[in-house]
Parts: sequence; C-alpha cells; structure tokens
Amino acid sequence: MRAGDLGNLTDGFAGEIVRPDDAGYDAARAVWNSMIDRRPALIVRPTSTDDVLTALRFATERELVIAVRCGGHSIPGLSTCDDGIVIDLSRMRGVEVDSARSTARVRGGSLLAELDDAAQAHRLVCPVGVVSHTGVAGLTLGGGMGRLQRKLGLTIDNLLAVELVTADGRVVSASDDENPGLFWGIRGAGANFGIVTSFEFQLHAFEGLVTHGTVRHPIERAEELAECYRELVEDGPDELWASFGIAVEADARAPTASVSVLHSGSPDDAERDLARLRALADPLEDSVEPKPYLATQRLFDAPMEWGQRFSMKSSFLDSLPEKLVSDWAEDVSRVPDGAEAGFSAWACGRAIAAVPEEDTAFTGRNAAFWAAAEIVWNDAAIDDACRSWARTAADTAAPYASTGRYVNDVAEVGGDVVRMIYGDAKYERLVALKRRLDPDNVFRLNQNISP
Ligand SMILES: Cc1cc2nc3c(=O)[nH]c(=O)nc-3n(C[C@H](O)[C@H](O)[C@H](O)COP(=O)(O)OP(=O)(O)OC[C@H]3O[C@@H](n4cnc5c(N)ncnc54)[C@H](O)[C@@H]3O)c2cc1C
Repeated sequence: MRAGDLGNLTDGFAGEIVRPDDAGYDAARAVWNSMIDRRPALIVRPTSTDDVLTALRFATERELVIAVRCGGHSIPGLSTCDDGIVIDLSRMRGVEVDSARSTARVRGGSLLAELDDAAQAHRLVCPVGVVSHTGVAGLTLGGGMGRLQRKLGLTIDNLLAVELVTADGRVVSASDDENPGLFWGIRGAGANFGIVTSFEFQLHAFEGLVTHGTVRHPIERAEELAECYRELVEDGPDELWASFGIAVEADARAPTASVSVLHSGSPDDAERDLARLRALADPLEDSVEPKPYLATQRLFDAPMEWGQRFSMKSSFLDSLPEKLVSDWAEDVSRVPDGAEAGFSAWACGRAIAAVPEEDTAFTGRNAAFWAAAEIVWNDAAIDDACRSWARTAADTAAPYASTGRYVNDVAEVGGDVVRMIYGDAKYERLVALKRRLDPDNVFRLNQNISP
C-alpha cells in the first residue's frame, strides 16, 4: 500500500493505524487461535461510528479485503486476513446499563467480561458464553451459548436492537420494529450484513450467587455418569445447566469423565437437584459449591488464554447415546502426547427451544445437546497429529447429528457448508437479504452467505 493512499485514511480518522513496519504490528495482527498467522496490509482501530465509516469507505474504494474484529476469537481466523485491512473494534468498548429498563447498550468491540461486570453491578445479567475474553459481537452475531441458556435462552434471544454500518456506508438500526428482516438475519448470520457498532440487550434480575462445579470420575465410569447426566438434564429445572465431558489433560494422561453444572436457583434447590450426581461414590473431584456467577465466568479465562493452538468441531444432537459415549472414551485414548483434548455435550432445550425455529436465522433450537470435540496444544511440531485427531474425533458424533450447525464453531469453508448450517429455506432467505444489503460481498470473512 502506497504512503499516499494511507494519507486518505488518516484525514478524518481519529483512531489508531498499525502498519506492517510498526513496532506493534505483530501484537496487533495476532488472533486468539495461534494456528492462524496472517499479515494484513493495515490494521485500523476506530474509536467511533464515524471512524468505522471512514475506514470502510477507504477499504471499499481500494477494493481491499476487509476483516472485522471484536474479540478475535474466531477459531478459523475470520477476523484477520492476508494483505487486506483489519477493522479492529477494540477501541470501541464499553457498556451502559439502564437499570430502570433493565437493558444494556454495548459498544461493538466489547468483551463478555465488560457486559457481565456492568450488568452484575446492577444485579442484572445477560446470558453469554463461558470465557470472559470472548467478543460480544462475534458471539452474539452467531447465537451465543452459555451456562444460563436453559433459563434465559441464547444471547440473541435477549437482543433488542443493533446499530450497524452497512456495506454502502449507511448507519442502520435493526430491531423487531425497524428493519425486522435484517434483525432476523443478524440473529445467527450477523457477521454477513455490516459492522455492528452497538447492541442493545434485555437484562434479567440476577442476584449473582450460583452453585457451580465439576464432578469427575475415572473413565471406566463414563457410562454410569452419562446415565446420571441424562436424568439430570431431563428432570432438572430450567435453572440447571449441565455438561457431560470426557477429556484428557496434558499433564495427566489418564482420561476422565465428568459432569459440570451451574444451578442458578437457590442453594437449597441446587443441593436437592444435584444430590444424585454428587452421591455417586468415590469421585476424583467434586468442586460443586456456591460461588459468585462472575467468578464462574472467569474460571476458564486462563486455561483458554490467547496464544494456544486450537481445533474443534461441534454438532447438535437429539440424544446422547451409549455408543457415542463409549466411542468418545476410545477416541480420547488416542490424543497425541502434549495435547489436551476431549468431548463435551452441553444441555440445550428449554428457553432455547421455546423460541420458534423460524424466528431467527440461528438453526438448531430443537437440539437436546450441543456436542463438541476440542483439542488444544502449544507445540507446532504436533500440528499434524492434533489436526488429524480432531478430524477423526469430529466424525464420531456425525451419525447422531441433528439439523443445523452452530455457525460460531464452523471452521470449514466452501461447498455447501453454509447451506448446511442454516438449512435450505433459511439459507435462501439469507441470500436474498445479502443481495439487498451487501451485493458485492464486502463482508465476506465470516461463514459467508454468497450473494
Ligand atoms: C476460548 C473460546 C471460548 C468460547 N466460548 C463460547 C461460548 O461459551 N459460547 C459460544 O456461543 N461461543 C463460544 N465461543 C465461540 C465464539 O462465539 C466465536 O468464536 C465468536 O465468533 C467469537 O467472537 P469474537 O468477537 O471474539 O471473534 P472475532 O474473531 O473478533 O469475530 C468473529 C466473527 O464475527 C465478525 N465480527 C466481529 N465483530 C463484529 C462486529 N462488530 N460487527 C460485525 N461482525 C463482527 C468477524 O468478522 C468474524 O467473522 C468461544 C470461542 C473461544 C475461542
């Protein structure tokens, strides 16, 4: 990029500009998954909607590939690019809570921690994901799953409105009342339609004390634990979220089976509802206890810190069959040395399923479980072995998969992947929306709806 070209951006752009020869370039181009190593021509950090408009105009006039970044957690690296421009919203963070209306206005570059902290300061909550350094924007635009989802739904089920900058440089609002067709698409395929500069969420009264933790047993008891988990999910209240897992940690080669829970009802209700799980004899670990919700939201921040190598694949399931549990137990015995890996199945349903499938672009509301195979490692020398494990492991759940895929986990691109995520009818509706709002596919670094 020529210096003269850059001059056009610095005029009227109040944000930060990072070029390849700047000292901060390597830090600025890094994304969460260190498997991704790309070199954009320019990284810009707008401070306002006007800056976003300026950066977008600069990029479109030069036909630069545009990557939009909030938290940088896209697993396949969709918030960076080679040669093009990264519009990094990390200087557009902040949350304003209106406690009288129980709503929050969240700027487009904010992280989950900021929303959690601001809401809890008023004894309110918005259901979001489980690692607090994830971006609100990427998570919300794909759906947003987390430990309050059976009670309060997906993050998008609590989204009231967005403001976004469209490909042709307009500032547009979308809600149930304004541009409802766009609002439908934003909730599940949102990265396709513009740069969201602000979100408005409905919050809920929430004192902030929850019962949370993990009960872990040797792998030999996986099926017994899975049976208990199925009952817990079936019989437990909406306040109870639970996840079944089979995993091997990098420094402890013996795989284990576990159930993690978060109960947002009273401690007495939690004790009653979790009694059977906790009565299974001789656990290796039982860390279930009352704790502040905000503490649970940060428990995985360090294990899932920036800079590790990561691969995952997920699917929605109607059930958690015995055969799948035993296959997972076998797969986990083949995790390459030096890697940490496992499977998990999160309880879905309830508030997620209470929203009609057709109401949002997000697909998969009727699934009983969201299941994922995940592997994390640090040594590039075992990349091939880890990727190969992830590919095989991902196939294990495939025969049981139900409709839809969670777009935020999908790393594959091309072919019919996006049609498979949304199903034929929603896909066609999304294509029509994309043709109207972004016919030149300016926003293409996402699970792309090709116009
Ligand atoms: C450690 C970790 C934990 C996770 N935990 C959960 C979880 O608990 N629940 C869950 O549902 N998901 C979870 N995810 C998946 C997560 O939702 C996706 O990776 C999501 O895309 C991350 O959002 P981000 O803003 O951090 O990512 P980014 O990489 O910044 O962006 C992701 C996508 O959104 C687009 N985008 C970003 N900001 C904007 C914007 N303002 N306007 C328009 N488009 C934008 C980007 O262009 C890109 O296509 C997790 C991922 C990781 C890595």
